Amino acid sequence: MSNIRPLFSIPTSPLIPVLGLQDGFPVHRIFCVGRNYAAHAAELGNTVDRVAPFYFTKPPTGLVLDGGSIAYPPGTEDYHHEIELVIAIGAPAFRVSTEEAMKSVFGYAVGLDMTRRDLQNAMKEKQRPWDISKAFEESAVIGPITPASEFAPQAQRISLVVNGSLRQQGHLNEMVWSVPEMISHLSRYYHLTPGDLIFTGTPSGVGALQPGDRLEGAVEGLSPITVTIGPAV
Ligand code: MN
Repeated sequence: MSNIRPLFSIPTSPLIPVLGLQDGFPVHRIFCVGRNYAAHAAELGNTVDRVAPFYFTKPPTGLVLDGGSIAYPPGTEDYHHEIELVIAIGAPAFRVSTEEAMKSVFGYAVGLDMTRRDLQNAMKEKQRPWDISKAFEESAVIGPITPASEFAPQAQRISLVVNGSLRQQGHLNEMVWSVPEMISHLSRYYHLTPGDLIFTGTPSGVGALQPGDRLEGAVEGLSPITVTIGPAV
């Protein structure tokens, strides 16, 4: 019998606009890479692991489109911005080589990996999972996707301006793990599928935000993003 209906409705993740297309990109999973710029790893007192990248995840329902405001989240007094290049996967990839990896890329976007840094530091100290610091409501912000036919990651500048002041900047060629390396490595552990997103790590300059702050993020060649921090919830 297939007449079972849901007891209640649950949140869904937003469709991401795609430049030049009417249809939106549905989100399946959100993977994030840690410590992918040496200067950022150093500013948090960490060293880069050059043997293999490592990952954490965020719930797709924690994703917000740019252009509006997001609430200052509960449980933190050190809420940080991390500007990142985001890879949008558009074709299956499982155990792919770095040479094959790029075939699975649908496009790229600018994103923010919002972080409750005080909670992350506490979890790191106790060797506990990072979830409470990384995977919360409105913890991932993303702008429109540019198709891979119109953008290739090279040495483009990535930057974040807060209230008119430059906070973060770097270049995509400073990433410890390149786009094909990240996809190839992640595909050893997951069947990557269309709808998956990979947040690729942040350059140095991360810092605390306050309600009312206005963030402007950019990667040269992609759609820039804007978001405002709303009142604390
Ligand atoms: Mn990050």
